[in-house]
Amino acid sequence: MHNETIKVLVPRLPNAAALQPYLARIDAAGIYSNYGPLSREFSTRLAQLAGAPYVTLTSNGTSAIELALRARALPGRRYCLMPAYTFIASAHAVCNAGLTPMLLDVSQETLTLTPQIAEAALSNLDEAPAAVLVISAFGAPPDQAAWAEFEARTGIPVVFDAAAAATALHGVGKQPVCVSLHATKVLGIGEGGAIFSSDENLVQRTTAMTGFGFVGAERVSAIRGGNYRISEYAAAVGLAVLGGLPARLATLSSITAAYQARLQGKAVRLQSGVGDEWVTMTLNVIVPAEALQVTIEKLDAAKIEWRRWWGPGCHRHPAFADVPRGDLSNTEAIAPRVIGLPFHDRLSEQDLDRITRCLP
Ligand SMILES: *Cc1c(COP(=O)(O)O)cnc(C)c1O
Repeated sequence: MHNETIKVLVPRLPNAAALQPYLARIDAAGIYSNYGPLSREFSTRLAQLAGAPYVTLTSNGTSAIELALRARALPGRRYCLMPAYTFIASAHAVCNAGLTPMLLDVSQETLTLTPQIAEAALSNLDEAPAAVLVISAFGAPPDQAAWAEFEARTGIPVVFDAAAAATALHGVGKQPVCVSLHATKVLGIGEGGAIFSSDENLVQRTTAMTGFGFVGAERVSAIRGGNYRISEYAAAVGLAVLGGLPARLATLSSITAAYQARLQGKAVRLQSGVGDEWVTMTLNVIVPAEALQVTIEKLDAAKIEWRRWWGPGCHRHPAFADVPRGDLSNTEAIAPRVIGLPFHDRLSEQDLDRITRCLP
């Protein structure tokens, strides 16, 4: 028992019994896609959860970011500012939106791009960027107010990739906030995504873009888009997930608290606000540089899975080796030290002891 590997993440979606009532509704309605009744109900409840006036559902988180960037990027401009430290999907989304990523550094404190870093980079650019993609650090709510001010000051449209923060939002402004509903995310439905915003016109456009750019009842393509819809079956999973969400968030909070108690007096730190203000599907510790190697060796020896969820940063991936970048010294310093620990509802008190014993 003691020698079993402790898994780093265990995704948990509703079982067949929990889905059954929603599947019966699909059978009765005979509607399978194209913004059907389950999809409409899911979007309404999702928007309420995020405190967002409007929402567009998308086929995944990456396409949510793509569509939000396509809708907001300033025409005739090439670059999209974004942090090098993020999950690689962010860089794919920027390229798929027809933009060139301009990789910038992050704060070692918040693990995010800050308005200060972005503004300092602007003076080094020979042309003004089309947009900035701001990433939520592993589900922490982004500083929407500071970035709204940045947009007002610089005229550069802001889009948030808050992929893991679907349950951490308490209100959404004009700048679109994109989330992922992937199975490994906190509100996982398998595959899915959403764009939240208080800008009704923007959300009308991104919603139209998910269905071939059709606006109104007529089958006339008014704007360029594609097929980024979710089916009624995906919405059924979403409605079942929402039903179990309060219990699940309570569980994740209590595991975070159990970690917090065991990390008292240790040299590792957690992300600011985690557990108290937000939770998500992963939990990272930031390990001091001098203790990193020995920590990893102890985790491996104790058969404890761990992961660098965002790896060393986008700039180190071959597919993005040629994209332009600024100074990335903070990213280089911090990325190796952000270690994802096991975090799921099957962890026992003994497991948590075994894990935290490995930490400095
Ligand atoms: C998960 C994730 C995405 C991609 O979401 P998908 O639904 O898998 O497409 C994008 N950005 C970040 C930061 C993520 O964590």
